[in-house]
Amino acid sequence: MNADLHCHSSHSDGVLSPAALAARAAANGVELWALTDHDNLDGLAEARSHASSLGLAFVDGVEISVTWQGSTVHVVGLGIDPGHGPLQAGLRSVRSGRDLRALRMAEALELLGVRDAYANAMRHAGNPSLVGRSHFARVLVEQGYAGDVSAVFRDYLVRGRPGYVEHQWTALAQAVAWILDAGGVAVIAHPGRCRISGDQLRLLFGEFRAAGGEAIEVVSGSHGDSEVRTFSRLARDFGFYASRASDFHAPDESPIDLGRSAPLPDGVEPVWQAPALRHQLRCAV
Ligand code: AMP
Ligand code: MN
Ligand code: MN
Ligand code: MN
Repeated sequence: MNADLHCHSSHSDGVLSPAALAARAAANGVELWALTDHDNLDGLAEARSHASSLGLAFVDGVEISVTWQGSTVHVVGLGIDPGHGPLQAGLRSVRSGRDLRALRMAEALELLGVRDAYANAMRHAGNPSLVGRSHFARVLVEQGYAGDVSAVFRDYLVRGRPGYVEHQWTALAQAVAWILDAGGVAVIAHPGRCRISGDQLRLLFGEFRAAGGEAIEVVSGSHGDSEVRTFSRLARDFGFYASRASDFHAPDESPIDLGRSAPLPDGVEPVWQAPALRHQLRCAV
């Protein structure tokens, strides 16, 4: 099954509209697709209607920003009801700190000489309440600070670099609770990118499972072969379903296009077998 269960539109830090993503997913042979914008649900109605006209099975999704023991962790919700009030209110609270953080990032970057950092980042942000590091990264590339966004992140926008601003997102158990209340399955996104390893990672997975989390991304655009092996073993150890995703953001930026990730390895249970998703997909066909 060519499933791609994590990607971004211009409603967060992707560059394509939900309609353009649906067309690209279909053209790339995706058979089961989810849109998972950061901390908002605004693109889902457009994504679902275009997926449906293309005959592409679609799952409503979101990627929630979490702070766990001082590290940022992303939790994807799949099969959530976009009309669920408590989820909407929760995401509003997660978004509320982004603007102030952007102002502080702009201040730090202007000290380095970046011109009109805030206004320029806002020009890239399709959704002003979702301004984030990727929008600043595109500004720094435009102004010649680095050759591409990944170099900007490495040199400017990660902890310890001059444009990084600490931020407190929501709690792990809170994000999982919103997802479960809205009828979804909670998935730890790209665990290989969490900058957490060994015993800490097992602690994170244990807390996530205790909160009701059911899956982790085993295949992700930011996992290499060895991470796929590590996380498929951990998925089996913890009894998690395995998700497959590109985390696609933009044609010129993302290493893996929609639907072009490696297949899930043998021996893991695909997340689309989770009862909440199976039920929704059965009702859709
Ligand atoms: P934010 O939520 O504003 O902190 O931005 C997080 C986003 O930055 C992620 O969802 C990615 O799109 C992007 N990002 C984080 N680290 C990197 C990296 N090393 N290279 C490219 N993009 C990154
Ligand atoms: Mn992103
Ligand atoms: Mn992420
Ligand atoms: Mn993502």
